[in-house]
Amino acid sequence: MADQIGFIGLGIMGRPMALNLRRAGHALWVHARRPENMAPLVAAGATACASAREVAEHSDIIFTMVSDTDDVEQVINGEHGIVEGLRPGSIVVDMSTISPSATRALADLLETLGGEMLDAPVSGGEKGAIDGTLSIMVGGKAKVFARVRPLFEKMGKNVIHIGDNGAGQVAKACNQVVITQAIAAIGEAYLLAAANGVDPRKVREALLGGFASSRALESHGLRMLDGNYQPGFKAHLHKKDMRIVMESATETGIALPGTALVTQLINTAVGQGMGEDDSISIFRIQQKLCGVQVDRQED
Ligand code: NAP
Repeated sequence: MADQIGFIGLGIMGRPMALNLRRAGHALWVHARRPENMAPLVAAGATACASAREVAEHSDIIFTMVSDTDDVEQVINGEHGIVEGLRPGSIVVDMSTISPSATRALADLLETLGGEMLDAPVSGGEKGAIDGTLSIMVGGKAKVFARVRPLFEKMGKNVIHIGDNGAGQVAKACNQVVITQAIAAIGEAYLLAAANGVDPRKVREALLGGFASSRALESHGLRMLDGNYQPGFKAHLHKKDMRIVMESATETGIALPGTALVTQLINTAVGQGMGEDDSISIFRIQQKLCGVQVDRQED
């Protein structure tokens, strides 16, 4: 019989990812705290479950896409969690961005209980989730990865087995080191242009044709100029990612001074009430800091 698939957490990312699995014809058992988040999945033929435990009772492979480390721990090991309904040999695939060390502990727990775990955080944003073009960074055993790979390929285009449990989360932390500094660097370039009376849109056009070009400049760079702070990727989740990065740097005893600096901008954006806005809101903080307005919506 074909694998029964479970999916828990149907927010900005989880909903379109689960829909792509359902559209590929997989039997799907879903759970979200808010019933309205399950409605589009149920309309597409998935079965709504009252708890993570109920999803686990029906599923061979269970995907989780929730917010933070505590949330994944709760969904897996909390009351009415996956552990209570885990079938022997079932695989839990956590696609949230959480702590690498907590991931390793959860993988050990599931193994003790006769299950398996992969960490498989993603990059590519809401658009990548909708289009099924995410980059998926996977940690866990090679044979478990091989079994889940066909499902990953329904959600992503760039599916890489990085290493053992936790390695996927480390890769995602590295992704956030790069993307956060890229957003901040784009903001600084726009401010420098504007402060010199030069049109930042023209600067962006020029940069897109050279070595400074990037997906961040294409996508985030345009939304920054348009003052479009609709999430996307919520600033409070980005703050959480930077906490994970900095904790991981502390655990391993390395210095990430550039990352530490931009983390302050994210913290401030959330502190100023922008947590539910897109994480490019750090550009609003940069503009305030410089007393220079570049985007269209600042007042
Ligand atoms: P989101 O829209 O806020 O969705 C998160 C979902 O998880 C919500 O529906 C929430 O339920 C559910 N949830 C949170 N804690 C839970 C718990 N303890 N038990 C049950 N459900 C819980 O966030 P998202 O943008 O989809 O992000 C999900 C994960 O993907 C995060 O780890 C994020 O860092 C990562 N990520 C996001 C992006 C992006 O561009 N958005 C890109 C890459 C990775 P409620 O609605 O009831 O609160």
